Amino acid sequence: MNFMLRLRGREQRLLKKIDEALERLEDGTFGICDDCGNEIGLKRLEARPVTTMCIECKTLQEEEEKRREV
Ligand SMILES: [Zn+2]
Repeated sequence: MNFMLRLRGREQRLLKKIDEALERLEDGTFGICDDCGNEIGLKRLEARPVTTMCIECKTLQEEEEKRREV
């Protein structure tokens, strides 16, 4: 039961991300990094179309998150 709820929560977050990606597609900011404003690589977009950050910023963010957890 808990597992199903978690799964549903994850699904809704993904749906929200897809919605946001479509919005960005409409206003022309799709594929632009939220953080630095550079273009997100096409390969990265193909692997993760809902991403809002380029690989450099995402890596930095993940490293910071890891640092905060410790
Ligand atoms: Zn960036």
